[in-house]
Amino acid sequence: MGWNPQGCRRTRIFAIDPRLEVAETDTLVIGGGVAGYSAALAAAAHGRVLVIAKDSMRESNSDYAQGGVAAVLGEEDTHSAHVEDTLTVGSGVCERAAVDIVVSEGPKRVRELISWGGRFDSEAGRLQLALEGGHSQRRVVHAKDETGAEVQRTLVSQIRAHANITVWEFTFAIDLDVDDLGCTGALVLRDRRDVVRVRARSTILCTGGSGRLYRETTNPDIATGDGVAMAFRAGARIRDVEFVQFHPTTLYVAGSARHLITEAVRGEGGHLVDEKGERFTFRYHPAGELAPRDVVSRAIVSHLASTGGSCVYLSLAHLGDRVHKLFPGISRTLTPFRLDLAKDRIPVLPSAHYHVGGVEADLSGRTSIPRLFAAGEVASSGLHGANRLASNSLLEGLVFGRRAGELAGADGGELRESAEGDSSPQRDLPGSVLHVGDMTNSIRSLMWRAVGIMRNQESLEAARSRLASWNDYVSQVDFKDARGFELVNLLTVGLLVTEAAAWRHESRGTHFRTDWPEKDDVHFKAHSVQVIGQEIHAQPITG
Ligand SMILES: Cc1cc2nc3c(=O)[nH]c(=O)nc-3n(C[C@H](O)[C@H](O)[C@H](O)COP(=O)(O)OP(=O)(O)OC[C@H]3O[C@@H](n4cnc5c(N)ncnc54)[C@H](O)[C@@H]3O)c2cc1C
Repeated sequence: MGWNPQGCRRTRIFAIDPRLEVAETDTLVIGGGVAGYSAALAAAAHGRVLVIAKDSMRESNSDYAQGGVAAVLGEEDTHSAHVEDTLTVGSGVCERAAVDIVVSEGPKRVRELISWGGRFDSEAGRLQLALEGGHSQRRVVHAKDETGAEVQRTLVSQIRAHANITVWEFTFAIDLDVDDLGCTGALVLRDRRDVVRVRARSTILCTGGSGRLYRETTNPDIATGDGVAMAFRAGARIRDVEFVQFHPTTLYVAGSARHLITEAVRGEGGHLVDEKGERFTFRYHPAGELAPRDVVSRAIVSHLASTGGSCVYLSLAHLGDRVHKLFPGISRTLTPFRLDLAKDRIPVLPSAHYHVGGVEADLSGRTSIPRLFAAGEVASSGLHGANRLASNSLLEGLVFGRRAGELAGADGGELRESAEGDSSPQRDLPGSVLHVGDMTNSIRSLMWRAVGIMRNQESLEAARSRLASWNDYVSQVDFKDARGFELVNLLTVGLLVTEAAAWRHESRGTHFRTDWPEKDDVHFKAHSVQVIGQEIHAQPITG
């Protein structure tokens, strides 16, 4: 018997009232990041599009992306080099067709952004391309260290100007509406107040990642895994969620949010040193600070375990004042904490950064539920395999967002009455009995300790039973607001990640098991797949 967490009964976590307000659109896009806006612009060529975002129009992981967008635009660079780099980092479980598509369509998408007014660093009319870890060529298009904000600014200006696109900000998707023929839309909490049923011919999930599942994360508050949880409840196939990328260098200052300090800082020659000022990463990998992210993250954790320190430091003092020009965003972030990037050692620790797995989606973003598409970080397109090559995810959002939007817009179903689905779950406890913030913090601490950078059977089993018992009583609570729905979603995604991490008896990519430290191609060169009510199982790699 597979697991079917209480409260994850098919389709709903919110009681349906037949008198609910109904809204209609051709394509519903859930999420306003690079994937959602790319999808919306493509779908709008075919009809009306409604984009909903649970916060403001810009607030998203996309807006915080620093390093850039990888694309084959340099004279020395080739399609096959970018493909090879992606496959190498993906550690044997990428889908080759997805990699080919993203690499070949990426340059077009970047040029399109430029044609829409996107401004990226260039010299004498030529794009300046940066080199990042894992890339064999300079291919990262960037706008200083604020590339995501520039991409979002450009996309949002197109969205605002488009007559077919409407955006509802501060609108939370609670559940997908699904009947026997597929997805008919979603139930949403509009303006934090009114529950509305949105009927759509097709629906595209672009809800981003789930970094907030972990105590330490680079992700903003919006990243609570809602899309994966909603899709799982609705019966979709969830793939490879054990692969969570931890970024090695996140600012670690009491009172500060966990700001990412981009890899480009190490690419420009920044050193990682310990309390004594020693560069320690070469003891763990010959590439030192420029080893893959998962290797550097584990090196930091192992080094701290053996030396007893609480954090390590980035040191750029040998690079001079030019670092302020190269990394203006990071310099600004440090100023209030009396830290100078060009002089001081900057305290850092690894933290959860990117969810590699997600809702299984094909080359056009189709999920296993008809009329439901997924693109961007919420999706498992097969591009990243077991680990993500730096700067490949904005690219993925641009390419697969666009592909999903094109098909969803052109090939939507009829507008149908939303089915009632399974009867609404019986809830016994009012929302006020539970301190949502405290419960959320407990989940995040547990995931960090037991399902984090290094895992083992004991830690995973302890986490699974703790999460299951919390889920048991949380599922009895009658939540009415976004924070409560997010809590339910975090628990669901936490259970999915833990289950998959316990199933994979090997170490591969971002998934490191201290009790199974080697890669096992004989048994695990495969995707993990979870479907509600079924046992977790393997799915072969198709190419
Ligand atoms: C600090 C940082 C730096 C990064 N740097 C880079 C980089 O340099 N290059 C790179 O390629 N990648 C980078 N990444 C990763 C990259 O930014 C993300 O993977 C990518 O932007 C995800 O885009 P998305 O459109 O899938 O999701 P997001 O941009 O996260 O957008 C998600 C949207 O969904 C909405 N949403 C979520 N849940 C709901 C719900 N229930 N109802 C309604 N709306 C909902 C959110 O409000 C938001 O609008 C970085 C990430 C971070 C956090």
